[in-house]
Amino acid sequence: LPGFPEDVIDSIRQAVDLVELVSRYVPLKRAGKSWKGCCPFHQEKTPSFNVHPEKGFWKCFGCGKGGNAFVFLMEKEGLTFPEAVRQLAKDTGIHLPGDDDPAAARHATRIARLRDVCEWACHEFERALRAPAGQPAREYFKRRGITGETAVRFRLGYAPPGWQNLSDAARAAGIAEQDLIELGLLRRKDAEDGRPARTFDFFRDRVTFPICDSQGRVIAFGARTLGDDEPKYLNSPETPLFSKGRNVYALHLAKQEMMRTGEGAVMEGYTDVIMAHQCGWPVAVAGLGTALTREQASLVARYVKRVYLVYDGDAAGLKAADRNSPAFLPEEVETRVVLITGGKDPCDVLLSGGLAALKSNVDASREVFDHLLDAAKRVPGEAQALDAALAPLVGVTSRTRRPLYVKRVADAFRISDAQVLDRLKEIEKTTAPAERAAPPHAHASAVSEPPPPVRASRNTSPPSPTEQHLIEALLGRPDLCAEAAERLAVDTVVHPLCRDLLERLLGRYEATGTAPPVDAILGGIDDPELSSFAEGLRARGAGKDLLGQGRDCIQRLTTQHEARRLREGLDQVAGPAAERRELNSDEGEMLRRWVEFHRRRSAGA
Ligand SMILES: [Zn+2]
Repeated sequence: LPGFPEDVIDSIRQAVDLVELVSRYVPLKRAGKSWKGCCPFHQEKTPSFNVHPEKGFWKCFGCGKGGNAFVFLMEKEGLTFPEAVRQLAKDTGIHLPGDDDPAAARHATRIARLRDVCEWACHEFERALRAPAGQPAREYFKRRGITGETAVRFRLGYAPPGWQNLSDAARAAGIAEQDLIELGLLRRKDAEDGRPARTFDFFRDRVTFPICDSQGRVIAFGARTLGDDEPKYLNSPETPLFSKGRNVYALHLAKQEMMRTGEGAVMEGYTDVIMAHQCGWPVAVAGLGTALTREQASLVARYVKRVYLVYDGDAAGLKAADRNSPAFLPEEVETRVVLITGGKDPCDVLLSGGLAALKSNVDASREVFDHLLDAAKRVPGEAQALDAALAPLVGVTSRTRRPLYVKRVADAFRISDAQVLDRLKEIEKTTAPAERAAPPHAHASAVSEPPPPVRASRNTSPPSPTEQHLIEALLGRPDLCAEAAERLAVDTVVHPLCRDLLERLLGRYEATGTAPPVDAILGGIDDPELSSFAEGLRARGAGKDLLGQGRDCIQRLTTQHEARRLREGLDQVAGPAAERRELNSDEGEMLRRWVEFHRRRSAGA
C-alpha cells in the first residue's frame, strides 16, 4: 500500500462509521450486533447484505461481495484504493502522513483553497443565472429545452457581459485575485501605453457548465456564447485542479446509473449529455472538447460493461468518431459507435423525438472496431489502408484485446495474423513513445519473440508445479476437462499463462459439452509466448499417466483454493487470527454461512 502506513489505514478504518457510510446508499435495519439491508451491488428483494460495524466489515450473502469501508467506497464509487483512503481520511478528520511534509502540506492547502474558490465561482455563476440580468441566459436554456430542475442538477450558470464582474465579486468576498488567475477565471493584462497592469474576467456573456471530478467537486468550467460568435465554446485552461485529458463531463452524475445498468454513453456536447439525462438516459458523459484520451476512456470503463460513443451523423461527426473511438480499444468493454441519422445532433433528436428516437439510433450502432476497419478500408491503396487499420492499435497492449484485433485485421485484409503483427510492430517502432498510451515495456511482453518453452516471462514467479501439471494433463487428456470444469473454479489457477490455457480449454468444453479439440485450440493462439508455453507443456506430458496426474491436481488445487478462501474469509470476517476466539454466536453463524457460500461457489454451484 504505497504512501499510506498500515497504522494510519487502521485508524481510519476504526474511525469510519460503516453503518452511516453504507446508509448513504441503502437503508439498513439493526439485527442484533449487525445491520441488514438489500444489497447495493445486486438486485434483491429479501435483504442478504450485512454490515458489522464493530468488526468494520460488510458482506452480501447473495452476490458474495464483501470487505471493509475502503472496499465499499471503491466498489460503490469506482474509486481507486488511495482515493478511497483520502476520502475516508477527510470524512473522519484523520491526518494523512503526507501532510506532515511542509511542502506537501502547503500544496494540499493550496489545492483545497483553489477548490473552494472554484466552488465559489460556480455559485456566483449560478446566482447570476437567477438574477434579473440572467434573463438572456435563462431564455437560452429554455430554447434548448433544458428545464429549471435540470439546470439546478447540472449547476448551470451565467457569466454576464462585462470585464470585472467576477473580480469585483471576489474582492467583496475576500478572495485573492491570484487564485482566480490560477484557475483561469481571470486573465492578466500587462501594463502598456501608460495604462497600469490589470485583470479581466475570462468568461463574459456566456452560459456556464461546471466541469466536476468524478466525486462531484467543481474543477473547471465550460462556457458557451448565447449567440453564434466564435469561439462558441470556451473551456477553462489546464490548472492545478483540471486536466482536460483526465476528466469527463458529468461523470459524477452518471456513474451510479452506469454501475447499476453496466451501460454508458459518451457524447460530444455538454447539452447533448444534459438532454440525455433529462430524457431518462442518465448514463451520458462527454469528453472535454479535444479527442478522447485513453485515460478518459479507462475512467469511463471503470463503471460500465458496454459503452456507446454517440456522434452526429454529419461529416464532422464522422471525423469525431474516427478520432475518439480508438481510445476505447484497450478497454475490456463492449464499445459501440452510434451515428445519429438525419444530420441532427443528439440534443435535437432527444428534443423532437424523446429517448425512443435516440434509442432507435442506438439500436443501429456498430461495434467500434468494425467501424474503424470500414473507415480504414476506404483509404486508397492496400498498404495505406492496412496502416490506417493498424494505427489505432499502436500501444494497445491488452493481452486479450490485441490478438483479437490483429486477427480481425488479418481477416479483413485476407492476410495472415503474423503479417499483420509484423507490420504493427514496425509501425510501433517508428511511433514516438510519447504518442503511445502505454509505456513501451508494457507491450514488449505481448509482442516479444518466442521464449524458450515453459518459461513464463509475464510473471516473475514461475507457475506452481501443480498448475503446470494440471495444464499438461488437460492438454494430453482433454476428456479430463469435464471433471475440471465441474470441480475447479477458474481463478484457482493464478499463473497468467496457465490460467489463459485453462480458460481456453474449459471455455470450449463448456460451450460444446465435449472434450475440447486441443490441436485447434493451440493452433488458434496468436500469442507466440503462450503458444510455445503450451507446446512445451504438451511435449512434456507425452507418455505420462495424465489421467491420474490430472485428477490429483484437480483435487490438490481445489483443497488449496478452499483453504486460501477460508483463510481470507476468516481474516475478513473475524479480523486478525488472534481475535478469532472472540467470535460470538452471531458472528459464528455468519462465518459458517460465509464458508458455505464459498464452498458452493468453488464447487461451481
Ligand atoms: Zn449482493
